[in-house]
Amino acid sequence: MTGKTHAAAGLLVGTAVALHFELDIFKTVTSMVIAGIASIFPDICHTRSKIGRKLWLLSWIIKHLFGHRTLTHSILFIAMIYGLLYVIHTPIYYMISIICGMLSHVILDMLTPRGVHLLFPLPIRVRFPIHFKTGGLVDLSLATTFSILTIYMLFDEGFKYVLESMLHYK
Ligand SMILES: [Zn+2]
Repeated sequence: MTGKTHAAAGLLVGTAVALHFELDIFKTVTSMVIAGIASIFPDICHTRSKIGRKLWLLSWIIKHLFGHRTLTHSILFIAMIYGLLYVIHTPIYYMISIICGMLSHVILDMLTPRGVHLLFPLPIRVRFPIHFKTGGLVDLSLATTFSILTIYMLFDEGFKYVLESMLHYK
């Protein structure tokens, strides 16, 4: 999947978490931003990805130590991040945003022909029975769907409010 699709999934996750915990506007934006970053972070193993170019040194080291879609796309890595967030007492809603953002990345990559090394260090590629080409129509459709859902969720409450006040007015 493209970086755009991953980011769109992350924003959707961050929005869902924020609505679930009824966060204020500041925490909602923070939740969306960190989930968005978490959703593209596993591609740090690709030196040419957006995150890889930003943190090029770290990206280069990870790529040469582990290779593509290995450590950073595994349950082990997500568990390590969870442990780190736990140690620094991350609030539960940010924790869920980050972990689910990363999970969304791994799940989406499992929908590509290449799959991921989910059980790293075991050298087993894991992917879903159905898979789609990165940058293809499904990839683009997913990005669009995630974006529409995010916008819908953000404005749903607003729509309801306007509709209700209109009905009461009549
Ligand atoms: Zn990836």
